[in-house]
Amino acid sequence: GLSPEAYRRRHEITVTGDNVLPPFTSFGSTGFPSEILREVHNAGFSAPTPIQAQSWPIALQSRDIVAIAKTGSGKTLGYLIPGFIHLKRCGNDSKLGPTVLVLSPTRELATQIQDEAVKFGKSSRISCVCLYGGAPKGPQLRDIDRGADIVVATPGRLNDILEMRRISLHQVSYLVLDEADRMLDMGFEPQIRKVVKEVPARRQTLMFTATWPKEVRKIAADLLVNPVQVNIGDVD
Ligand code: ADP
Ligand code: MG
Repeated sequence: GLSPEAYRRRHEITVTGDNVLPPFTSFGSTGFPSEILREVHNAGFSAPTPIQAQSWPIALQSRDIVAIAKTGSGKTLGYLIPGFIHLKRCGNDSKLGPTVLVLSPTRELATQIQDEAVKFGKSSRISCVCLYGGAPKGPQLRDIDRGADIVVATPGRLNDILEMRRISLHQVSYLVLDEADRMLDMGFEPQIRKVVKEVPARRQTLMFTATWPKEVRKIAADLLVNPVQVNIGDVD
């Protein structure tokens, strides 16, 4: 196999941060539990994508991370699989609220994330609910009441449900801001900040984005602690 440096050069991976672990260049080197390896095998995946290869070891160290890579590069599993392992380590009771919270800009994207979480988390017995606007709240509130390890939500709907006091985020310890650039473009910054106020400060925060403009840098600086930054391709 390639050395870590050669792998990073070949896949245009740039890392910023102290003592960054080398990438997982194959699924065999991840040390993932067998039930997760079985799911990626069933999906027909032959190797981690570059953003996964470099994000996974960092996320598994419980470090904050900013991952910048274009659409279609496999960012969803980049945060979901370490989230599954985090859930296993915590052993929290999902009846008391989610442990993993993923914020996503749109209903369509949130639903896709939930589908991926259900597919790859099934054999790990992970439960996931999805909260988004433009649909009645009743079924979503019932899903929350049944308990879920992972909540995937658009910032607007999650705020509505928080204001109704129908969800507790006090157990969240793994917070993901997915498509952070799009969420800010859509004007969700106030709702994101309100949600984050409800999440304990002792947490791991992961930000995934396709671009790295100054608005995204600003919110990253406010919400993440000493993050490792991983870029794939052009760095700006
Ligand atoms: P992004 O969030 O970066 O836009 P996605 O997470 O939506 O990308 O992934 C894009 C597609 O790649 C999805 O269909 C996903 O299932 C697939 N995918 C994810 N990881 C791998 C992998 N390691 N090998 C092959 N395909 C993958
Ligand atoms: Mg994505």
